[in-house]
Amino acid sequence: MSLPSEAQMRAAISARDPSLDGVFVYAVLTTGVFCRPSCASRHARPENLRFFLGIDAAMAAGYRPCKRCRPTETVALDTRLVDVARHIDAHADAPLTLAELSAVSGLSTRTLQRGFTQAFGISPKTYRNAVRMRRYKQQLKDADTVTEAIFAAGFGSTSRVYGETTRSLGMTPGTYRAGGAGETIAYACRQSALGPLMMAATDKGVCCVQFGDHEYALLGALRDEFPRAELVSSSAQHAPELDAWIQALEQHLGAGGPRPDLPLEMRGTVFQMQVWQCLLSIREGEVLSYRQLAERLGMPSAIRAVASACGRNRIGVLIPCHRVLRSDGSLGGYRWGLERKRQLLETERKHQHGAS
Ligand SMILES: [Zn+2]
Repeated sequence: MSLPSEAQMRAAISARDPSLDGVFVYAVLTTGVFCRPSCASRHARPENLRFFLGIDAAMAAGYRPCKRCRPTETVALDTRLVDVARHIDAHADAPLTLAELSAVSGLSTRTLQRGFTQAFGISPKTYRNAVRMRRYKQQLKDADTVTEAIFAAGFGSTSRVYGETTRSLGMTPGTYRAGGAGETIAYACRQSALGPLMMAATDKGVCCVQFGDHEYALLGALRDEFPRAELVSSSAQHAPELDAWIQALEQHLGAGGPRPDLPLEMRGTVFQMQVWQCLLSIREGEVLSYRQLAERLGMPSAIRAVASACGRNRIGVLIPCHRVLRSDGSLGGYRWGLERKRQLLETERKHQHGAS
C-alpha cells in the first residue's frame, strides 16, 4: 500500500509479489507492454523496466496492457462473499451466526471468515456492527428521541447502544443531536509552512485543524463547523495543551518534526468516522487511492462516498486525508487547496527516503 521505492518495486517484480498489484505497474521498454508486479511472464532485463504508479500514467507514456496479467482489469471478488455481505446488510438487526452465513454462501465457516476479512478488510461481525451503527446514526437525525432511534435501528438495549456509540462517536448520542451546544471550544492560530493554521480543541482533544489565507476566514470556518459551541481564543492559561499542540504541529510542518500524536475528537456520521479511522492507519510516506481506501473499509463500491468523507475531514494533517489520491495517481481534491496537499506529500516523501 505504500508508495514503494524503486528497490521495493524491483524486488516485488522479481518475487512476482501480488501484494503490490494495484499499487504500481511496470513497463518494458523493449516490448512496449506494461504488467502487474505479479505477472507470470518472463522477466525483462532490469535496465529495460519503467515504473508507473497508475495504469493511466503507463498508458499516457504509450505502453499497452499485458494480455497475460491484464493490469487494467480489477481482480474480481468472490461473488459468494458479496452474497454474504448482502445478507448481512439485509439482516443486520438479527443475531447472525457464522453457521448461518456459511449456509447462505456455501462456504465453510473458516473459509468464510478468512475470505470475508481478506476481501473487505473487516470480519463479518465488525461489518454487521458497522451496518447497524450506520442505520442507527441515520435515524438519529430523523427520529424524535434518541431512544426511539435506538429501537428503530434494531438494537436490543439502550445501555448497550450508549456504550458502543459513545466509543465510536467520541461523544454521547445526546450531545451529537444537540450539535455540540453548551460546549466550549478553544482555538489558536499560527503562521505555518503551509500558511495560516488554526487548531481547535474541546476538553477531549483536537476537533479541528485547518488552513486558510487569513485568520478571520479561519475563525468563520470554525464557526460554520461548530455553530452551537462557544468559541474561545486560547490565551495559554485556559488551554495550555492547545498551545503546545499547535506548536508541535507547526514544528512538524515546518521543520519536519514527527507528526504529533495528539488526542483527537472526531465528530461525524458513523460512516465518516470509519473513513477517518481508516485514514489514521495510513503511515507517513504511504499513499492510497480512494478505491483502495474503500476496499480497506470493506465497502469497495462506495468510492464516491469515501472520497466525500475524506473531503469532510476537519482535522487536517493529523487525520492524513492528504494521503489519498485518485486511482490514476493524480492528486484528487483537498479541502485546503491542492497546493498544500502537494507540499505535504512532497515533504513526507522526502522524509521517507531520508529515513530508508
Ligand atoms: Zn503481464
